[in-house]
Amino acid sequence: MRSTFESNRNVSSETPATGKQTSQVASSGGRPESRSPLLDSAQFVKGVGPARFELLKKLGIETVGDLLFYFPRTYENLSNLRSTAQLREGEMQTVRGEVVAIEGREISRGRCLVSIVLDDGHGCIEGVWFNQPFAARKFRYGQLLSFSGKPKWYRDHWQMSNPRVHILDDAQAEQPPPVLPIYRLTENLRAEQLQPIIRRAVEQAARYVEDFLPSELKRRRGFPSPEQALRAVHMPASIEEGQAGRRRFVYEEFLLLQVALAVRRRELRDRRQAPRLVVTKEIDQRIRRLFPFELTADQNRAVAAICRDLQSDRPMQRLLQADVGAGKTAVAVYALLAAVANKYQAVLMAPTEVLARQHWQTLSRYLAHSRVRRLLLTGALSGRERRTALAEIRNFQVDLVIGTQALVQQDVQFAQLGLVVIDEQHKFGVHQRARIRKMGVDPHYLVMTATPIPRTIALTMFGDLDLTVIKQLPPGRQPVRTKWVSEAQREQIYEQVRSALRQGRQAYVICPLVNESENLELKSAETTFRELQQGPFREFEIGLLHGRLDDKVKETVMDRFRRRELDVLVSTSVVEVGVDVPNATIMLIEHADHFGLSQLHQLRGRISRGTIAGQCFLFGEPTSDEARQRLKLFTRTSDGFTLAEEDARLRGAGELFGARQHGLGELRFGDLLSDSILLQWAREDALALVRDDPGLRKPEHALLRRAVIERYGQTLDLAEIG
Ligand code: ADP
Ligand code: MG
Repeated sequence: MRSTFESNRNVSSETPATGKQTSQVASSGGRPESRSPLLDSAQFVKGVGPARFELLKKLGIETVGDLLFYFPRTYENLSNLRSTAQLREGEMQTVRGEVVAIEGREISRGRCLVSIVLDDGHGCIEGVWFNQPFAARKFRYGQLLSFSGKPKWYRDHWQMSNPRVHILDDAQAEQPPPVLPIYRLTENLRAEQLQPIIRRAVEQAARYVEDFLPSELKRRRGFPSPEQALRAVHMPASIEEGQAGRRRFVYEEFLLLQVALAVRRRELRDRRQAPRLVVTKEIDQRIRRLFPFELTADQNRAVAAICRDLQSDRPMQRLLQADVGAGKTAVAVYALLAAVANKYQAVLMAPTEVLARQHWQTLSRYLAHSRVRRLLLTGALSGRERRTALAEIRNFQVDLVIGTQALVQQDVQFAQLGLVVIDEQHKFGVHQRARIRKMGVDPHYLVMTATPIPRTIALTMFGDLDLTVIKQLPPGRQPVRTKWVSEAQREQIYEQVRSALRQGRQAYVICPLVNESENLELKSAETTFRELQQGPFREFEIGLLHGRLDDKVKETVMDRFRRRELDVLVSTSVVEVGVDVPNATIMLIEHADHFGLSQLHQLRGRISRGTIAGQCFLFGEPTSDEARQRLKLFTRTSDGFTLAEEDARLRGAGELFGARQHGLGELRFGDLLSDSILLQWAREDALALVRDDPGLRKPEHALLRRAVIERYGQTLDLAEIG
């Protein structure tokens, strides 16, 4: 159902498919029929005009509202205003004065120097630019400018090299603004041009921006009105004031998201019925007897949380987040068997056929002597086999179903479904979970991920789920020794690998690409496979695995590796998640600098699954400092959470946990890592608000309600709140 709250909050003509969220613009005072001034074209703001409007469009600015929400990238402090008589070397200062000399000259072959001299009535200061001949053209004699930078006493006068220049228009003739907002620009659009345009937009239209924050929250958290906040963002008296203004909009953005998630959480849990699945002492013992090991304390904590959830008549919505190798499968098996013991069906979904089959084999081992009727639903089934399988599921001749997400979602009808376990969820966002849920009755849900997601981010990506974290690894696990090695050591490393292979171990060789044509600089899996087969690993069996292979071929290769028919598996990062071959203890990673930290961590997780210490060798010649830092950190720590946080910091949370992964659209203002306190506030406030007014029916929540529906109604299926 479409929301009835149509409004013109989206400003520009951007289609929703691009995922770009446009500015938050009110339909003036809730009267949709009167167009908000924020929707006026930016072209008609004084100082824009048709030509400049084209440039603004390149920055994504089309309306007055877009101008208002075009936030500075950073600020520059100009408040340290000095006269030339008061200047001191080495600190950031600003001097204002009149242009008394403009000069450009060649100082040596191919090198030129531009010099502009300001006189402030007390003395002169020279600004100099090297190799920027165009710098001279922007200015004229008699113009009032300010230079900001660190001055130096040069021979007989003050000099600043590459000062930040601000043209003081009449309004500012007395003083430059104390803080300069620095906007992202585009070619042919200069800062001195954009700044006054945005200032004018603020003067004209900031008062029309709708304030959907409930006043109680605004008071408690101390946020200003949108108009005040926008003034602070674009014309701050201090950098702190600018940042405080921005925080309001970050909080607002987080609040919308968290309210949406809280509403959804309520819809999925509090308003639905699920079967009560009771785990008696006897059931518990029967399940535990199947494992060849004792569960770790962390696994037991997870099991206890799950048992509590299952006993309730509200559907469990739990995210189990465990570092690689921490033993999620055992916890999943426990939950599945608990459901089956209660005479309900249970299903385990894996992201790939390879992983589905691996789970099938694990379960077959655990259940060798049990009467649990189980079925593997793969793409390999023929049409007839599949029809038979579906009939068995429908007629409750099967208790336990294992398959890929795609297969289980398609057309499977369960007789009596009690539990759904989704493995390696990180590849599937909120969207996909929403679809899985519509299979019929309301089962309990357990979602598992091996991606160590920083907590604040997990709260956002999976904010509608309860979170359990397993950090502890099973006992006896040996740490993987990781070495970053040079090309010169390659032969020696191969010798080490050969010697381990002769002792019966297995090895992975990971390459970033499938074939050479994708990038000539990088060694591909195919080439590496051929080279190793003919050269260094001649005496061994080698397999090749990559994403372009047919599912059947992939499975055969994985099966052979698992059965030790292959000694070495050359692979792309498709083995990244979930694959469990404890005898494989060695990994070589080619071009390691081409992988992200979290990905390297997942890869390395493949060789830390047994009781024999793994060895991981990284080849790679990073071209950037950042990549070098990444590899160094990776050799030092094996903690997934540290690595994930560092990864998010280095690459930006947005890139790592971007729209594609969580399916919630890009955040426009907030940053999940650096704004985590605001995210926490928003979450607390959203939960309290929805608890107190679940349908957002109170008059003071009307605007908020509309904003939530507009932003997330479709994505999160919230058309009817309340
Ligand atoms: P992941 O969380 O990465 O999916 P798995 O469930 O595949 O991890 O478990 C990794 C390995 O640890 C498996 O080989 C499994 O048999 C073993 N394992 C799991 N739990 C325990 C335990 N409590 N004690 C000993 N080994 C365990
Ligand atoms: Mg797993």
